[in-house]
Amino acid sequence: MIDLVYIAILKANRLRPTTVRLAVLSVMSDYEDGTHFTIEKISDDLINRGVRKSIGSIYRTLKEFEDSGIVIRHQFDSIGTVYESNTGSDHDHTVCVVCGKIREFYKTEFDSLRKEVVSESKGRLIKHTQTLYVVCESCL
Ligand SMILES: [Zn+2]
Ligand SMILES: [Zn+2]
Repeated sequence: MIDLVYIAILKANRLRPTTVRLAVLSVMSDYEDGTHFTIEKISDDLINRGVRKSIGSIYRTLKEFEDSGIVIRHQFDSIGTVYESNTGSDHDHTVCVVCGKIREFYKTEFDSLRKEVVSESKGRLIKHTQTLYVVCESCL
């Protein structure tokens, strides 16, 4: 039953409902909003459900999801590549350089500064990332 929802998401993004795509979507839907996950995490969670897929095929699936806007990919120093579901919420991240904890934040001031800079450049904003590397409260 629930598969119908995932099939619909894939169809809306012109992706055929293959088992690996359906399985990855299903694992992702169990994550809380704002969860940042690695390919290895997806692989472990698939194995826990008795689904064995190669890292390569999970990687290709996430790349397709990224291209269709289903997920967003980030590259953080000391953590590497993480993904998150694209909920459409505009936010930036802090990353703890000790434990790797990722927090999301949104500041209207940053947002208006970005708009100002883009407007001064007379261009159009396509993408922005702002990552603040910190030592988090529990690691201080
Ligand atoms: Zn920390
Ligand atoms: Zn995020």
